Formats: sequence, structure tokens, C-alpha cells
Amino acid sequence: MGLLSQGSPLSWEETQRYADHVRRHGILQFLHIYHAVKDRHKDVLKWGDEVEYMLVSFDHENKKVQLVLSGEDVLETLQEKGERTNPNHPTLWRPEYGSYMIEGTPGQPYGGTMSEFNTVEDNMRKRRKEATSVLEENQALCTITSFPSSSICCRLGCPGFTLPEYKPNPIEGGASKSLFFPDEAINKHPRFSTLTRNIRHRRGEKVVINVPIFKDKNTPSPFIETFPEDDEAAKASKPDHIYMDAMGFGMGNCCLQVTFQACSISEARYLYDQLATICPIVMALSAASPFYRGYVSDIDCRWGVISASVDDRTREERGLEPLKKNNYRISKSRYDSIDSYLSKCGEKYNDIDLTIDKEIYQQLLQEGIDHLLAQHVAHLFIRDPLTLFEEKIHLDDANESDHFENIQSTNWQTMRFKPPPPNSDIGWRVEFRPMEVQLTDFENSAYVVFVVLLTRVILSYKLDFLIPLSKVDENMKVAQKRDAVLQGMFYFRKDICKGGNAVVDGRGKAQSSSELAVEEYTLMSIDTIINGKEGVFPGLIPILNSYLENMEVDVDTRCSILNYLKLIKKRASGELMTVARWMREFIANHPDYKQDSIITDEMNYSLIVKCNQIANELCECPELLGPAFRKVKYSGSKTDSSN
Ligand code: GLU
Ligand code: MG
Repeated sequence: MGLLSQGSPLSWEETQRYADHVRRHGILQFLHIYHAVKDRHKDVLKWGDEVEYMLVSFDHENKKVQLVLSGEDVLETLQEKGERTNPNHPTLWRPEYGSYMIEGTPGQPYGGTMSEFNTVEDNMRKRRKEATSVLEENQALCTITSFPSSSICCRLGCPGFTLPEYKPNPIEGGASKSLFFPDEAINKHPRFSTLTRNIRHRRGEKVVINVPIFKDKNTPSPFIETFPEDDEAAKASKPDHIYMDAMGFGMGNCCLQVTFQACSISEARYLYDQLATICPIVMALSAASPFYRGYVSDIDCRWGVISASVDDRTREERGLEPLKKNNYRISKSRYDSIDSYLSKCGEKYNDIDLTIDKEIYQQLLQEGIDHLLAQHVAHLFIRDPLTLFEEKIHLDDANESDHFENIQSTNWQTMRFKPPPPNSDIGWRVEFRPMEVQLTDFENSAYVVFVVLLTRVILSYKLDFLIPLSKVDENMKVAQKRDAVLQGMFYFRKDICKGGNAVVDGRGKAQSSSELAVEEYTLMSIDTIINGKEGVFPGLIPILNSYLENMEVDVDTRCSILNYLKLIKKRASGELMTVARWMREFIANHPDYKQDSIITDEMNYSLIVKCNQIANELCECPELLGPAFRKVKYSGSKTDSSN
């Protein structure tokens, strides 16, 4: 979740005092980088994936599963055995928000050759095996996006979903002040609790997450929870919604990300824009998080939950009160979809209001940065730094970039445009961030390979997916709804091959979306977008297949890629279920389920046991995976959890 500085975090008041300092120097650091590497080109295509994991512990006797708060120790062991012993170690491990989380990436980035697509899954398997091998009895490493149950009973303060068990501490001085989520479940590195605390301080109240509940036959209607013991909760919780009040309910979720190195800054900007339009589509296809705080929800994706979980905007910034202390109204959380395209051809589709720091924008223009990049950076920099370490206040702006990264890495958007670190041989990169993590390495590889192949095709065929950004935002909303993959209709560009024009000639003026509406985009189902529909749209998978046919690829790699694409194709058509759909059916068919939207501890236990068996290939799951391609088998749990 970003750069970790060692040291002592400043208090919120002190951090605020340095806000302008951080922004000022952050911009100087960005300018140094920009001027040093703006003309760099011919960097080779490289890319890498990031998988976030949860550590769980099974109590088979009492049919209970809990999140194990040992992420820091597990990480230490993995780094010690891995990268610190051997710089060429095939895996890299990093901390994540939850004390029950870790993040794994390949040790080295992948390169541009096709055969590397055939190593992704093996590397993910290695990661799973390696991390599993350092866990204790009855513990497992899970790739689930959102942990279904935080034990509903724990809303009254009784310990539940973590091991060791802790009571939530909704007291003054706590980091989250949550009624449900104990601070001990936050990673012990001070960055994470400081972020949590300062988001709350800046906002002026606890974060508020209200997720619509799934109304089943016996779900009370209206569905109302009362929180007499907590004023903020009583006011903030909405009828027919699952109420949550901590950063951990969002940032404690897991995702699957891919980062690309482009050959130049302009290629990176082009990819950033093109992939931004794909974000909602792939998010809906990867939907994997239907349950929150022990309830069945009416959404399938985590996005809005995380967005609300880190929403540090004040009431003034959210437009609830007239602006007095703050400078701007801000329309989105720090975790949200992108607000402006970066490439010349994207310019005319920039149709949403962009709040920018005008001084920074002017400064960037004066330094020779073009309008689009200047407004992008000036938009990121409307935010305050959320953490600052005493030892990292005064920096060498020509050779360090911590202040720039401070703001950049707490703008968690669907895409991230990443300048190279100072004095490094890393090129301009873009990060693709919307995907939910899947249960198996096979699925995670499939989604990663699909997205990477898509970038190849975008670049080689000069495809153009751009539509007005306001339409991408509408797509983001649809994408999170229950069963969006089959029910949702998404704005998508009709003629994606016209790109040639747009790429070369991007001088058009901004047009309102209605002016463009008639000819350029239309509403399509995900099936149409992915698989194509005669006379309407060619389909991304058919395009990828024809690209593959023209490429030299060894038989084994081709076979793997085709298998991955098949999974995507079938998820889009509904022939296979998304993880979200599968989880819903599992709970609906559980003998204990009372059709009241409640997930009991025991139901949660059987679900996670099943997920773990599927992930470790101890059982088949054709409705999710199809007749999936099987490679090496190993037992990924410390003991056989099939009992
Ligand atoms: N876990 C977050 C998510 O699900 C992402 C955190 C990160 O940026 O690494 O989107
Ligand atoms: Mg991460």
C-alpha cells in the first residue's frame, strides 16, 4: 500500500502544519524527476503483478475461522528467508494494511516475451507455497477479497474475528474508534495506524460506510441496526444498510494489481487512459466481495467500501457546509476512479469537474509541463499529507521523492501514473488497480494475463477505448452492483479501431458527452464487450485471439493463455460464475442459512474451508473454474483442512 518510512510519525496537528511544506517540496521533487527523465524512451516493456493475501486460522472443533494477526512476523520470516538471503529470490513480500495481511509479488518483473505468460501461475503458486510453509498448524493463506464475517455479535464489543481475540476499542485515543474493528487488527507499522487516525481527524468524525443489504425472504424490512452506545454510529448508519465505521473494513480487503513499465512517458499516458476505461469492466468480471460484517450485501465489489473507508474529506469539502476553513469542494474520496485523462487523445473526453491547486498548476506550466499532466498533478495535490515522519521532513529534493510519494501514494485511484524514482533505471509506469483477488492462482493468472495481453493489443493495434470520463464513472457505479457482470449495461466505445485518428489527431476541443453520444459509444453488456456480438462489437477476446494467432508462441504457453482467456470468456458469458456469485450460492445453499442475510460463524467457517480447498486444489469447483488446467499439486494448508 505504498512506501514505508521508518521512524516516528508526527501528530496530526504537526503533520497539518507541514502540509504546504510537503506539497511544495513534493512538486519540486516531481519536477526534478520530470526534467531528468521526460525524454527517456526505449525502456522495454516490463510488468509485474501484486497479490494481497489474508492469513486465517481454522478451529475445526468449534467450526470457527479467524484472521490471524501475525502478518508482521510472517513477513519478517519470508523476507529473511527470501530476498535478504538471495537478491534473486523469485518472490518479494510486503506489508499490507491488516495485521492479518501480506502482499506478494514476483522477485523480478516479467519482460516482453510471450513465454513469460507461462511463468505467472507458477510464480503465484510458489508464493502461496512459500508463505504457507511458514504458517502454524491449521493456518492458511487465503486470497479472498473481503473476509465475510467480522462476527456480528462483536458489534456489542465482544471479541470475535481475530486471533488473538481483541475487543474493539471505540474510545478516545484509539486509531479507528471502531465499534467493530479492533486497532490490533491494523498492521503494527506506525504508517497504518497513523493513516487511520489522521483520516478520522481530518474528516472530523469516524469514517462512514453504508453498504446496501441484500434483502432475502426473511431479512427484516426495513433492516435497521441500532447503536445506542455510539452517537456517531446512531447518526451515520442508514436503514437497509450494513454500517461500518473503520478504515480496516476497506483497506483490510485484498486485491490483484498489475503494473506496467511503458517505453516512454507518452506511451504510459496513452496506456493510462486506455486502461482507465477498462477498469469498471474488469472489476465487474473479477467481482469477489459480496459479504460484509457478517451480512449478505447487495454489492459484489469492494470498491465503494474502500472509497468510504479512507474518505478524509471534511463536511465543507463534501459540500455539506459552506466553505470556511477549507479551500475546495472535493467530489470524490482519495480512493476513487481517475478524474482526468492524460493523453492528447483523451483531452476531449475530460468532461468531469476537476478540482486543482491553481498555484501548483501554474508552477508546473511555467516549468514547461503541458496542461494535461499539470492538471493531473495539481489535482492529486489538492490532498493533504496524511502521515509524516519526523526524520523525513527535510529532504534533498533533487535525489529524494518521499514528499511527492506521500501525496501520490495516498491517492488510491483506479489507475496510477508513476514517474520513475529518482536516479533509477526504472521507466515510466502505470498501475492497474481495480481488480478483486480471486481464490486460485489459476484465476489470478488469468486476469493478469488478460490485462497484460490487452495492453499489447492496445499498443500494437492502436486501439481506442476512450469515452467521456463521466461515462466511465457511471460504469464504475454499475460494476459494483450485485451480478453486474450479467445484468449490468456499460458504456463502451463502438468503433475501437478508429483509434488511429484519435491518437494522431487529438487536438479536438472538449465536447459535452451528449454531443459525442450519438456515434461514439453505446450501452453494452459485459458479454458483448468481452465476447463480441455480431454487428455490434467485435469483442476483446476475439481480438486477443487473433493477435495470438499472429504471434510466435510455444505450444505450452499458447495452451495456458487460451485456458486463461477461456475463463474470462466464460465468466463474461455467465457460463462460469464470478467468485461473488459462487460465494452467494454457497451461503444460500448452506443448511444453516435462514434466508435472513445473516452469515453465522459456522457458515463463514464452512465457506472459508471450501475456499481454501479450492485454492489448494483439494477439490474441484467446475462452476467457478470450469474444467481448469491443472499443474503441480501440493497441499497448501499445514494440515488437511478437509475435515
Ligand atoms: N487493498 C487495496 C485494494 O483492495 C489496495 C491497497 C494498495 O494500494 O496496495 O484495492
Ligand atoms: Mg497492496
